[in-house]
Amino acid sequence: MSDSLSDCIFCKIAAGEFATDFVMETDLVVAFDDLSLQAPTHVLIVPRQHVSSIAQLTDDDRDLIVDVTLVVNRVARLRGIDATGYRVVTNSGADAGQTVSHLHWHLLGGAPMGPIA
Ligand code: AMP
Ligand code: ZN
Repeated sequence: MSDSLSDCIFCKIAAGEFATDFVMETDLVVAFDDLSLQAPTHVLIVPRQHVSSIAQLTDDDRDLIVDVTLVVNRVARLRGIDATGYRVVTNSGADAGQTVSHLHWHLLGGAPMGPIA
């Protein structure tokens, strides 16, 4: 991973530059509501350090990968969607429709969802 990129929106959010309300934060990640909700609960889990997508993760990132999973489950409980179910998605690259080139996981829930495209 590299350090934060000056022109990366999620680096700035993770650094607290926009006073974003974090749903949850750890030493490694921050979680905040997506600007454009695709489900009643739509939270992004974002590494504090810049990495462009899941494709760049390596063996050195095991702590991050574990942390993300635990944060996903904690946010799901916090938002009351743990019993009804939720979906976790990360887009990597153009074909997946990734629009922000800073790795993030979408946590979606709160209503029934259709099949994944
Ligand atoms: P993706 O298409 O997987 O790269 O997802 C990027 C997501 O980031 C989209 O769901 C956007 O709505 C969301 N997003 C972009 N800018 C912001 C922002 N400033 N705060 C919160 N969510 C954002
Ligand atoms: Zn970044």
